[in-house]
Amino acid sequence: MNNIQHTGRVIIAGAGPGDPELLTLKALRYLQQADVVIADRLVSDVILCEYVKKDALVLHAGKQSRKGASTPQFIINELLVEYALQGKMVMRLKGGDVSIFSNLMDELNALSRHHIPYEIIPGITAASGAAAYAGIPLTARDHANAVRFLTYYKADLLQDDYWKELAQTGDTLVFYMSSDTLDELISKLLQHKIAGDRHIAVIEQATTPMQHVYNCNIHEYAKKRGSSNFVSPTLIIIGKVAALQQQFQWIPNSNNREYYFKPIERNVKEIARA
Ligand code: SAH
Repeated sequence: MNNIQHTGRVIIAGAGPGDPELLTLKALRYLQQADVVIADRLVSDVILCEYVKKDALVLHAGKQSRKGASTPQFIINELLVEYALQGKMVMRLKGGDVSIFSNLMDELNALSRHHIPYEIIPGITAASGAAAYAGIPLTARDHANAVRFLTYYKADLLQDDYWKELAQTGDTLVFYMSSDTLDELISKLLQHKIAGDRHIAVIEQATTPMQHVYNCNIHEYAKKRGSSNFVSPTLIIIGKVAALQQQFQWIPNSNNREYYFKPIERNVKEIARA
């Protein structure tokens, strides 16, 4: 890495869950100025094609569950630091919000270690975007007093006591990164006697033109939708409020099962060095 002359800075911003119009004005303004943009896979191509400066370097990074390529976090950290130390204005664009299931702390640690100035700009998280575009009021009065953002992508993330609590709470449960383990998640809740009036809404590709919502009573799920292959990304909302989607749905389900977010084909570092 070269000696520091003029340190640049890094703007870490959320791009929202899909619909490019859910980007904040502040993120848009910075995007139009950035020299380098390092974007997650779950960032709309429209944002990257239309709002980025013409001569900016755009790099695709980010995780893609267990399938396909993904960029190790340390490489993303290195690139942020490297470009900022070259005096560049770097934009790190993350899907949804920056601080929810997003490795924000790793990137902040790397920047702090190198005394690189940064700003953090929030985005609309998938839970808010999916709930709005599906017609689900997450904490509707008389339905839920609270909402929890959770994940269950591997078995040891949640302990048995906690499953019991989750099955019995009246809180709305939102699961990120959990569609591959959904059958297991549902059977855990059933084992711990989740109430009969709880519904499940599974929202594929929320806020994109390919959005599709599956909705049923949680007890019916195993019979109806067990072992489904959902199109990624998928968000799961469980609770009494999920039933309201059937009443307040305002966007028809799409039957287009193409991917809105394209898979990452090459490691970001190869592209950076090409
Ligand atoms: N920081 C992001 C979450 C990153 S974790 C945020 O705040 O939204 C990635 C997970 O988010 C996906 O596995 C999926 O569960 C959810 N997700 C992100 N975008 C989504 C979308 N458009 N539709 C459905 N789920 C989405």
